[in-house]
Amino acid sequence: MNKFIPVNEPVLNGNEKKYLIECIESGWISSEGGFVIKFEQLLAEYTGRKYGIAVANGSVALDLAIEALGLTAGDEVILPTFTIISCAAPLVRRGIIPVCIDCDLSTFQMNIADIEKHITPRTKAIMAVHIYGLPVDMDPLVSLAKQYDLKVIEDAAEAHGLSYKGKQCGSFGDVSIFSFYPNKHITTGEGGMVLTDNLELAATCRSLRNLCFESTERFVHHKLGFNYRMSNLQAAVGVAQAERLKETVTQKREIGRKYQEKLHGLKKYITLPTQKLDYAENIYWVFPIVLKDSFGFSAKELAAELRTRGVDTRPFFYPMHLQPVFVNMNLFRGACCPNAEFISTYGLYIPSGLGLSESDQEYVSEQLHEALISLTTHETSAMEFPNGL
Ligand SMILES: *Cc1c(COP(=O)(O)O)cnc(C)c1O
Repeated sequence: MNKFIPVNEPVLNGNEKKYLIECIESGWISSEGGFVIKFEQLLAEYTGRKYGIAVANGSVALDLAIEALGLTAGDEVILPTFTIISCAAPLVRRGIIPVCIDCDLSTFQMNIADIEKHITPRTKAIMAVHIYGLPVDMDPLVSLAKQYDLKVIEDAAEAHGLSYKGKQCGSFGDVSIFSFYPNKHITTGEGGMVLTDNLELAATCRSLRNLCFESTERFVHHKLGFNYRMSNLQAAVGVAQAERLKETVTQKREIGRKYQEKLHGLKKYITLPTQKLDYAENIYWVFPIVLKDSFGFSAKELAAELRTRGVDTRPFFYPMHLQPVFVNMNLFRGACCPNAEFISTYGLYIPSGLGLSESDQEYVSEQLHEALISLTTHETSAMEFPNGL
């Protein structure tokens, strides 16, 4: 079968080309170009933040956030176990101790109720990561942080255009970050941004991003920085993408709504994502599904079956407390996160990029249905005839 539906395809049909041509014709291609500042202002304004600092990707945005907050070895930071390694890596590299929290089965977000019992005198910050198109329940998290005098690092990499109680995600952290990888609602190919309202933190991030160059003596440094700069070419694409964010969110929600309709009949086999909470409406960064565990096969087997039918999928995040690299470092000892373990075994997400057509969506839904039937029949017969008879 030749058909292949990728899990994501970015759409770059706005002003991307026009702005890129402007860069090329003017010669402004480095981080010095005007699109970088424009992009920072657009997103800061959209998110309701004072400052945006564009960087090379979302992972280094987190790195910068942690460096700028001055977190150091021996400090503890609370974060969800169900997330990408970019959240834990900058902590572990500095000898900061990551303390993980399990997630909720229906929203995939970190369990707020579990946070307080993990706070110790060494805890310095909580990292809130909005996962798969829904937000963390921020109000109780922020008030806990206030109560214990902790910083909030907000990872809104998957949450452009998502609001919590009417306020944009990316506006809640002492420092917040975005990613602009091609599967995000705004892409620059590779890219990221740090956002904050704190002038001093913003200045620190700007300086760290640019090798801590100083204005007085160009190649004399008093501090150690990084080259995490974003190029004008990336920012040009970002400005065009930001211009169509509202439309993107509308389209993604439409894709989500159609899947909810088309897959409604499969609820015997799978759990569909939560569409609405009283504090947010899903922006369907991806369309995640979780298999019921009663059928005896995991997401891996479903992914393989779908692949033979030309449907691409992605597995869920692999929990931080199970990551071999961290287990070998003796981190996360005694962590108990059964929900994250469950969804990482039984969850995957199906194609839902902006480039997905209605007929593609119909095809994916049909193939998912057939794949589930094929796997359940297969498993049942294997159970009935254990010797393969
Ligand atoms: C994508 C993502 C990142 C990392 O962003 P990159 O730009 O790929 O480095 C960080 N956190 C979350 C939650 C993400 O989804």
